[in-house]
Amino acid sequence: MNIRISHSLAIFVLLFFTLSAIAQTGSGERYQRVVIRNAIVIDGNGTPASGPKDIVIENDRIAEIVNIDPVAVKEGRARRPAKGDFEIDAEGKYVMPGLINLHGHTHDGRGGKSMPVEYCQKLWLAHGITTIRDVGSYSKTLEWRDKSANNEIASPRIVAYGVFNNGESTKNVEAARERVRQLKREGYEGMKLFGVDRDIMAALMDEAKKQGLRVAHHTGVEETNTWDDIRFGTSSIEHWYGIPEAAIPNGRQNYPADYNYNDEVDRFRYAGRLWREADWDRLMKVFDAMIEADVAWNPTLNIYEASRDLQRAQNQPHYAEYLHPVLAEFFIPNPANHGSYFIGWTSTDEVFWKENYRIWMKALREFEKRGGTIGAGEDAGFIYQVYGFGLIRELELHQEAGFHPLMVIKHATGNNAKIMGKEDELGRIRVGFKADILVVNGNPLEDLKVLYATGTEEIVDGEARKTGGVEWTVKDGIPFHAPTMAAEVRKIVADAKAQ
Ligand SMILES: [Zn+2]
Repeated sequence: MNIRISHSLAIFVLLFFTLSAIAQTGSGERYQRVVIRNAIVIDGNGTPASGPKDIVIENDRIAEIVNIDPVAVKEGRARRPAKGDFEIDAEGKYVMPGLINLHGHTHDGRGGKSMPVEYCQKLWLAHGITTIRDVGSYSKTLEWRDKSANNEIASPRIVAYGVFNNGESTKNVEAARERVRQLKREGYEGMKLFGVDRDIMAALMDEAKKQGLRVAHHTGVEETNTWDDIRFGTSSIEHWYGIPEAAIPNGRQNYPADYNYNDEVDRFRYAGRLWREADWDRLMKVFDAMIEADVAWNPTLNIYEASRDLQRAQNQPHYAEYLHPVLAEFFIPNPANHGSYFIGWTSTDEVFWKENYRIWMKALREFEKRGGTIGAGEDAGFIYQVYGFGLIRELELHQEAGFHPLMVIKHATGNNAKIMGKEDELGRIRVGFKADILVVNGNPLEDLKVLYATGTEEIVDGEARKTGGVEWTVKDGIPFHAPTMAAEVRKIVADAKAQ
C-alpha cells in the first residue's frame, strides 16, 4: 500500500468514526446551559398556552422561565437571560413538555427477524417523545435504558416495566411473590401483567406494594376484571376489556358456542361487540370505584383502529418512507403474529367496532368528568401502528373522543408522569423539572397533526406548502434535532429495502 492511499485511508477512517459518533447520538449533545427564546408555552397541566417566554435549561433541569414583557423589549429594558451554550429561537413556534409514551415496546426485531433498535428510538424522538414506559421490558431494555440515561444512544428515557408472566410466576402464590422480588432485584421500576387468576393477582399485588413496584395491568378477558384492579390497587389499566366486563350484568359477554379465545380472529371480532353489552349504570359504579382507588386508565385507542377501518390502516401515507420492511412483513395477516388477525375481516366487523369506539369514547369522557386519570400510550409495533406515529394518532383519537386539545396534551404529559409516580419531575414546563421540552413548528392546539414527523400542509400564497413537525426534542436537557432523527430513520428504511 503506498503512502498516499494509506493517508487517505486514515482520513477516511477518521471521518468515518467522527460521522458514526455523530450518528450514534444524532445531534444530541449535553450543554451546560441551553436557552429557548420567545416561546409560546403549553404546560402539561391543562392550563392555556401563554407567552412569549424565555426558558433556561441548566444541565438536565429547567432552571428559569422568564416572561417577556413586549413593552419592555420595545423600550430596551427587558430582562433577558444571558446567552446559552446552545440557543434555540422559538419565535412563531410552540413549546410544550416532551411527550410520554405510556405503553411502549422497544423492539429490535419482529416475527423472528431483526430490525435496528435505533429505528423505533429515533422515530420516537422525531415525534417529540422523551420518555417511554416500556411495558415489555427485559434484560436488553435495561441496557438501552442505561445507555439512554448516559446519552450513549439517541433514545427517549426508558422507564422499564418487566413482564410478570414467565413460565414460573403463575404456578402458585409463592412463585408469584418470588417473581415480583426477582423483578425488583433486576432493577425494573414496575411490571406489566396479564391473564392471571385471582389468587395469583392478590399475592403479586401485595408483594409489589412491599417492593415499591408499580403495576400496569394489560386487562384481557380473564378470571379477574376491573373490580380486582380496584381491590388490589393496580396503577394503570392498559387497554380496556376488563372495564366493560366488570359492568356486564351476566358477568360474561354473550359469546357464540364455538368462540375460542386463542383464535385471534375470534378474540378481536367479539371484542368489538363488548362495549355494547356493558350496563351504563354499573359502568358508572366501576368508574367511581376506580377513581376512589386511584386506578388510572391507559386506553390505547390507536392500536385497535384497524378493526374499525382496515383500509385506512393498510394504506397510511407514512408507510412509503417510514415503514421498515421487517415490520411491514409482521403486519401481513398471519395467525403466527400477534395482532395480525385480519383474516376474513368483514364490513360487519367494522360496523360493530365503530359502535364499540363510540361507546368507549363516551365512557372515557365520563371517566375523566368524574375525576378519573387518563393516560396516553401507543403500543406500536403491532396492528399497523408505527412507533411515534401511533402516539400522535392516539392524541388525535383522544380529541375525537371529545377532549379539548389542552386536556389531550395533559393526558400524554402531566397525567402520564403522575401514573408513573414521576409527577414531581416530568410532564411539565416548570422550574426544577427535568428539561424534557419540545419546540414545535406550529400550534398543536390548532392541529395535533403538526406533531407528526411527516408534518402537515399549509397554504401560502395559494400554494400548498409542507410545514409542521417537531423541530427540537429536548430530552434530559439534551437537544435532538427532530428532522435529523426523521431523516436517519428514512435512511434506515431505505437501506433495509435495498438489501
Ligand atoms: Zn403492549
